[in-house]
Amino acid sequence: MLSVSATRPLTFKISLPSPAFSLRTHMESTPRTHFTSASHSPQTNPDTSDGFTITLQEWQGWGAVSPLPAKVVEIVKDLKLLEKTTEVQMSFSGHRGKLEGDFGMQENKKHRATYQALGDSEKKLQFFSARQIACRLLGSRGYLCQKCWLPLEEDCMCSKVKPSSLWRGIRFWLYMHPKDFLRQNNTGKLLWQVLGVESATLCLYGIAEDEEIMWNACKIAGKDKVFCLYPNKNVATKSVQDAVCQEISADPECNTTMANEYKPLNFILIDGTWSNSAAMFNRLKEKTKSVWGVEDLPCISLSAGVSTMHKLRPQPSWDRTCTAAAAIGLLSELQVLPHFSSYGLDKQNEALENAVDVLLEALTARRLRMGRSITRRLRHSSNIC
Ligand SMILES: [Zn+2]
Repeated sequence: MLSVSATRPLTFKISLPSPAFSLRTHMESTPRTHFTSASHSPQTNPDTSDGFTITLQEWQGWGAVSPLPAKVVEIVKDLKLLEKTTEVQMSFSGHRGKLEGDFGMQENKKHRATYQALGDSEKKLQFFSARQIACRLLGSRGYLCQKCWLPLEEDCMCSKVKPSSLWRGIRFWLYMHPKDFLRQNNTGKLLWQVLGVESATLCLYGIAEDEEIMWNACKIAGKDKVFCLYPNKNVATKSVQDAVCQEISADPECNTTMANEYKPLNFILIDGTWSNSAAMFNRLKEKTKSVWGVEDLPCISLSAGVSTMHKLRPQPSWDRTCTAAAAIGLLSELQVLPHFSSYGLDKQNEALENAVDVLLEALTARRLRMGRSITRRLRHSSNIC
């Protein structure tokens, strides 16, 4: 069978479907059920009385479950101060995540100096991540829909996405690189948009509050119930069946345990570009060592589900990491295992596939409307910070 790791696992990329790529149309208009607070309404403008305050409601409206990260708040305050002292108004480039103009130049100088002055690599990473997040938050507010991360006015796809409850014996963690946060063509966001934030939880790389939540949950679940989808050829991986069945056979009462669903299997999906994912994986390994004393975080590579992967990969037009496809491939492989066959994973998978189609349709429509080629790559490698 074609191993995903033998091709470009987790890193086959998407930008936009080729014109030949068939897109299904979804007419359903299902209200969102996973997000209930007012902050999740795309129509709700955050409290931005001074243009800089980020509330907990706004933060969690974007899909986060953590408290407002302290370092992000700190950076937002610094940006506010810089605007005041320089008397130059902050502005963002087209993608809304990057500062531009005079303010951008001044801030660039300042943040580079701050970064250099930081003592250790942990502090540097936290600063880098918080700054990326802060800029994206400020640049995207009022422009992107908080739920689907697409431009609110023209492209919001929320009405076409059907939610589906994931079986409680599985929990996904979207370990996302800050540069993928609020990216329109990110597919990791689809997981919590469809499955809900309790089943597919965002964890931003280098954001202490997020990482703490993920690792606390992993600690409670136990090392044998935590897996990573990082099918790098240089890393030893197990098939879904081997990894999960080993866990099942190690626990003779696994069936009962699964039925009671009190300790879900935790799957960490690395949601970043190929070049960023190595550092993200190393951080996961370091943390695994500090929590359990050993570095060997079990890695899974997908072997079956090729048809699904193929469907989601109309090469050569995808040039983005398709995290949603990795989750879809994983669920497909679990579904065929006897232990997992009765939990409706196929239906849950179908809902995810539909959401991917809807996203591709929305991105395609956007580019066509803007008069751009739909085969051009959306993503460019951008510089740090
Ligand atoms: Zn939306």
